[in-house]
Amino acid sequence: MFDYLIVGAGFAGSVLAERLATQCNKKVLIIDKRPHIGGNAYDHYNEEGILVHKYGPHIFHTNSRDVFDYLSQFTPWRPYEHRVLASVDGQLVPMPINMDTINKLYGLQLTSFEVDAFFKSVAENIPVVKTSEDVVVSKVGRELYEKFFRNYTRKQWGMDPSELDKSVTSRVPVRTNRDDRYFTDTFQAMPLHGYTAMFEKMLAHPNIKVMLNTDYHEIVEMIPFREMIYTGPVDEYFDFIYGKLPYRSLEFKHETLDKAQHLPAAVVNYPNEQAYTRITEFKYLTGQEHHKTSVVYEFPRAEGDPYYPVPRVENAAIYNKYKKLADETTGVHFVGRLATYKYYNMDQVVAQALTLYKKLADAPEQLPETNFVLGANGIKQVLGSAITAGGQLNGKH
Ligand code: FAD
Ligand code: UDP
Repeated sequence: MFDYLIVGAGFAGSVLAERLATQCNKKVLIIDKRPHIGGNAYDHYNEEGILVHKYGPHIFHTNSRDVFDYLSQFTPWRPYEHRVLASVDGQLVPMPINMDTINKLYGLQLTSFEVDAFFKSVAENIPVVKTSEDVVVSKVGRELYEKFFRNYTRKQWGMDPSELDKSVTSRVPVRTNRDDRYFTDTFQAMPLHGYTAMFEKMLAHPNIKVMLNTDYHEIVEMIPFREMIYTGPVDEYFDFIYGKLPYRSLEFKHETLDKAQHLPAAVVNYPNEQAYTRITEFKYLTGQEHHKTSVVYEFPRAEGDPYYPVPRVENAAIYNKYKKLADETTGVHFVGRLATYKYYNMDQVVAQALTLYKKLADAPEQLPETNFVLGANGIKQVLGSAITAGGQLNGKH
């Protein structure tokens, strides 16, 4: 009997497996339908021996010492500050927009003070900033919005920035100084031997069994466990009873080139003409030396693996219905980017998982002999007399 069945071996699932196994002596089965651990942060050496991120560039950054210290148990780090250029009007300029971006783009030599005055002169007055368009035009005006944000966002999300919550473009700051780092967090570093090596260390414990290539539907009736931690898409768990939650997908085109370096920076963003949004050259991220180089192009897609929850009011309303159901589902804990429908970075998922861990560790002992089966409607039902006798909602959604 496992104490926990953990669905998904990404950050959310792996942090919980590690904590519960090592700190509470729980027996954990962690499964993933993919053939590897690490979730979307999975990296591997490709056929040429270059370390690449299968699901697009993952750069670790956090302001949380707790999160950084926690992960530092499983990996040494390589200090790394991420820099991005945007291809605009035939030039490559720093992104986020800063003093050098403006000077290069317009052939000027403005000081920081003058750039600030320039932004103020072009910024639109928007009394209540609600959308991803509002955020940008209220800071840098419409022209820069159109050059850097409008089309990138339309490609990435399949909708206009005016239809997306302000939180999306708020992720990218605007600066009047020359700081060209993409992030300004206190801790910015990459796992020295890669993410997968870090995950391997997290999961290397006798109390943790890992099962790959396994959708949880295939085993949920066969393997006894007390509680479930679910990190897949929340709408899928409940068989889409409130409809599909939109998740944006990507297609990754990986390429290895017969030269040591391809791009002038780790990432080049293409806000306009191209069908892809950005190209990433992995060796910048990993520091690896190799006579060849590997890059990845990202092509946004409506269909495919779910990568991004889509932050907008309509979707939050659907998610809230699923959340209510999730909260009422005894014995199953929902955590991570897909299961809580949050556009979270890796560090936020680690923090969320550590919070859930504390809650579980502090909870009274679970009831014995709980297990789940799929009901005729495909919705999970908890078996186990003690829980069902408690009159809790167990699959009767
Ligand atoms: P996931 O990593 O998605 O793990 C969930 C796992 O559950 C998956 O492996 C999936 O296969 C498995 N699963 C789902 N359903 C089932 C099922 N039915 N049965 C079995 N297994 C199932 N964050 C950063 O901090 N920095 C970055 O630079 C960054 N870049 C990113 C770039 C891209 C292109 C993307 C898509 C994301 C990026 N992120 C970045 C976000 C980061 O990937 C996530 O925050 C993090 O990986 C989420 O971890 P998770 O465990 O919640 O989900
Ligand atoms: N964005 C943009 N132009 C850019 C970079 C970002 O319009 O050059 C917008 C776009 O909507 C994107 C969002 O800002 O989805 C957040 O960017 P970030 O780089 O954080 O995206 P992620 O790395 O999560 O894909």
